[in-house]
Amino acid sequence: MLRTHYSRDITPDDDGKKVVMAGWVHETRDLGGITFLILRDREGLVQVTLSKKKTDEKLFNLIRSISRESVVLVSGLVKREGKAPNNYEIIPSYVQVLNKAASPLPLDVTGKVGADLDTRLDSRFMDIRRQSIKAIFVIRHHVLKTIRTFLDGSGFKEINTPKIVATATEGGTALFPITYFEREAFLSQSPQLYKQIMMSAGLDRVYEIGPIFRAEEHDTTKHLNEVSSVDIEASFVTHKDVMSILEFLIEKVYSNVIKSCKNELEILGLQLSTPKLPFKRLSYEKAIDIGDIEWGDDLDTATEKAIGEKMGSHYFIVDWPTETKPYYTEPYADNPEICKAFDLMHPRMELASGSQRIHSHDLLRRRIKAQGLNPDGFEFYLRAFKCGMPPHAGWGLGLERLLMTMLNLNNIREVILFPRDRHRLAP
Ligand code: ATP
Ligand code: MG
Repeated sequence: MLRTHYSRDITPDDDGKKVVMAGWVHETRDLGGITFLILRDREGLVQVTLSKKKTDEKLFNLIRSISRESVVLVSGLVKREGKAPNNYEIIPSYVQVLNKAASPLPLDVTGKVGADLDTRLDSRFMDIRRQSIKAIFVIRHHVLKTIRTFLDGSGFKEINTPKIVATATEGGTALFPITYFEREAFLSQSPQLYKQIMMSAGLDRVYEIGPIFRAEEHDTTKHLNEVSSVDIEASFVTHKDVMSILEFLIEKVYSNVIKSCKNELEILGLQLSTPKLPFKRLSYEKAIDIGDIEWGDDLDTATEKAIGEKMGSHYFIVDWPTETKPYYTEPYADNPEICKAFDLMHPRMELASGSQRIHSHDLLRRRIKAQGLNPDGFEFYLRAFKCGMPPHAGWGLGLERLLMTMLNLNNIREVILFPRDRHRLAP
């Protein structure tokens, strides 16, 4: 390893210690007799102080003229210094330029010069060098880690299902067709059918964190064409059971981010609080009253906002009209007009959808037909229901929506490294 320490590994108590640090030239400040090189690594900033008198002349001149964002290795001694970031500085004995950066740069990493989102996304490698952007992805890492730990602790096994599929999960048009040798295939819009098949396979509780692809042509601040979905499916449970798993998970994600990401939240200027459990349950019938829409309508963005303002924090919308939800959703036996489906809502938008699933083969086949789909295309799925399918339930949670609402960001593109939208296919 080239470095011995990240900037955050060092404290003023290390005064006198010999260290090797590596990173990018954030800034140089030339004060004549003294030059400060502010070195940046993943964890923060370090002040490297060179005095003209004490430094080798060649080294001193090299540092003074070095271009911003060049990659350097600094070896030297730690010195306590109250005025430097983290209260220490490095007095270098040796500085090596590992790679020079060209100038001008496409973006200003210090954040003094602003840039619009498109410019930032075009040069994402520079954009993420900014501490406030990097913080988002460090938090994303902790969210994913929390989800895995929580689900593992709740008895779920992580699975991976195919992303190249022959059939639409839910019919509809939101599919990207691809050429699969001599046949047409599609990018998967959801692991739904495969995670259900795993219930018949007896895995009992499964989860997947993976990409889903939606070809909707929307161009909004909360939709992308490729997102990460957190999906679970569990057997011998009801929709109410998986709703409580979902709310416990959300609580755990918030509380772990508060605990593990103090520095990142501070950089982002955020004071998070853990949402209170249990989340309120609002029936679809009551929701449309607040929103002033008709029975059977989906909630549009304005309606979601109006209801969200009234609810104030996370909540569930339950008991949806059967016709608004996919064919695999189980209707209430005593009132088949409504079904055992739920959406988890943040006051700003939908975060997750889930339900009790139909486990009767015959009912499922009828529901597929009733929604105008051809059951022949679903044979590989329906077969699993003929030979011992347990009752089961599950949900799909949009990872980017969870992040953007938690971090109070306006655009979903902020929380994904390389967004795929109607206009963007690169980088
Ligand atoms: P919406 O109505 O808000 O577009 P949806 O009901 O079509 O979402 P689902 O099929 O229920 O989405 O997918 C489950 C979750 O996956 C959603 O609640 C959302 O968090 C996320 N999700 C789905 N599609 C997208 C997308 N295009 N962009 C971002 N997140 C998405
Ligand atoms: Mg939904």
